[in-house]
Amino acid sequence: MSVAANIKSVNNQLLGSVARLVVVSKTYPPEVLMQAYEAGARIFGENRVQELVPKYEVLPKDIQWHLIGHLQSNKVKYIAPFVSMIHSVDSFKLLEEIDRQAKRNSRRIDCLLQVHIADEETKFGFSSDEVVELLHSEQLGSLENICVKGLMGMATFTQDLAQVRQEFRSLRQLFEHLKATYSAPNIDLVELSMGMSGDYLIAVEEGSTLVRIGSSIFGSRH
Ligand SMILES: *Cc1c(COP(=O)(O)O)cnc(C)c1O
Repeated sequence: MSVAANIKSVNNQLLGSVARLVVVSKTYPPEVLMQAYEAGARIFGENRVQELVPKYEVLPKDIQWHLIGHLQSNKVKYIAPFVSMIHSVDSFKLLEEIDRQAKRNSRRIDCLLQVHIADEETKFGFSSDEVVELLHSEQLGSLENICVKGLMGMATFTQDLAQVRQEFRSLRQLFEHLKATYSAPNIDLVELSMGMSGDYLIAVEEGSTLVRIGSSIFGSRH
């Protein structure tokens, strides 16, 4: 199947839901991304700054670039001029640096808080309690050049689909709770980024607004 046909088939599966497609293009060269662009894709997700910047430079300027992988504070400056959303915010310190660099570029950067929902060990992501604490903190209010647009989560890598569904559902419940509780000029909770190639249909059923899909579109990475 071609990239265009794969995108069409994913988009057909998203019909009738609120979910939008983030085409995860990491490891693929710009020519391959162009095939997705020509098939209508405009939101691309990359997980490394070193890969994102050169692709941004050569590809059409109406692409919205989303950073979906772990971001080190010292690399924020390279993407701050153009990145449209950062899905992987996992510390207050990182949020402060995004705010600082957004301000230098006279813009506002949309951010998602990454929440640790899988039962695998990982260094990245907040716990639910930490997210609540962050949204509650007075320091957050002083960050005028970021906007917290929602949450991102990755389910456990397992064949147990009931477990995957439960993890997405718990993220959705946290999201709904936060939405009902917090509002501020820089908090606007509308996005729930969950679902990858192996589990996006479940994620969409559980209320995802952004699915991050790579291998179902481009084939498996080596
Ligand atoms: C690579 C990646 C994806 C896409 O994974 P596929 O299984 O290829 O669809 C989604 N989210 C993140 C954070 C990733 O790093």
